[in-house]
Amino acid sequence: MKPAPFAYAAPASLEEALELLVQYGEDAKIIAGGQTLGPLLNMRLVTPAILVDLNRVAELAYLRRDGGALAVGALTRQSALEDDVALATQQPLVAAAIPFVAHRAIRNRGTVGGSLAHADPAAEWGGLVAALEVELVIQRAGSAPRTLAAADFFQGVLTTALEPEELLVEIRIPPWPEDAGWSFRELARRHGDFALAGVALRLSVDAQGRCRCARVAILGVGDGPVRATEAEGMLDGQAVGEETFRAAAECASKEVEPQSDVHASAAFRRHLTRVLVEDALAEAAARARGGDAHVGT
Ligand code: FAD
Repeated sequence: MKPAPFAYAAPASLEEALELLVQYGEDAKIIAGGQTLGPLLNMRLVTPAILVDLNRVAELAYLRRDGGALAVGALTRQSALEDDVALATQQPLVAAAIPFVAHRAIRNRGTVGGSLAHADPAAEWGGLVAALEVELVIQRAGSAPRTLAAADFFQGVLTTALEPEELLVEIRIPPWPEDAGWSFRELARRHGDFALAGVALRLSVDAQGRCRCARVAILGVGDGPVRATEAEGMLDGQAVGEETFRAAAECASKEVEPQSDVHASAAFRRHLTRVLVEDALAEAAARARGGDAHVGT
């Protein structure tokens, strides 16, 4: 199919883009990488009066480091992060997750902002921003930017707090804690497909071998990324080990609300959550202790 007719604007600056959004409001649709919006237009599931193309707004494509924190412009392509050699040591959880986002050809065009604004509950970025307590920076013409946490940004399946006149302009990833281990795990039917379920997880281990500062975010099993806060609380101060991880994973599997669809039943997704979280905790703990982690799913 072909898209319904639409007007087209290619602003060359952020200011120009924001003004177009104010001018056209709900009649406008932003296009970034077009990897999701393209098919939606072709199927006429979206029929904007005007497309506002961000691709000439170079000031929105950047990685900026500031004392360990990483600011990522919304128009940054997924592959720009994948190709950043420092990422594996500075933000290892992000580096571990990016290769799971679709395929390289899609990551070459698809943007960080586009993924987050689309808000697919199985998107890897949703899990990352929840686990890493990322700030999402949103801008509207003539106003100071506002900043939201993941819990306030995601408001349901394919729904965010973004208003029609607003752009997601940046995400701010806090410095990675030096003592933390990490694990990103997911299961998809084929490599590059959206995950049936996945987990983005960070864990520190103190000198006595006790779990500290667990951050467990699960994707594909709710209306958006799910922070397993009860499981995180259970882990705090507990000795690293199979028993602790099994109990926390069991707890996490009860915190999610998966749906059944053609790809998997809700029961299977809940089971998967338990298995992925248990394995991810073992892997993250091994990494936190400086060991090499080899844990099978
Ligand atoms: P676009 O398609 O251009 O836009 C997507 C939406 O975001 C639109 O509603 C648009 O208006 C809005 N938007 C874009 N930028 C902004 C902004 N700065 N501010 C406000 N709104 C904005 N994704 C995954 O996470 N995991 C996967 O496994 C995965 N598999 C895929 C497999 C296939 C075959 C395909 C085609 C896509 C897959 N994707 C997957 C989606 C892919 O990551 C997309 O690139 C991404 O979701 C959208 O990014 P984009 O830059 O292409 O956005």
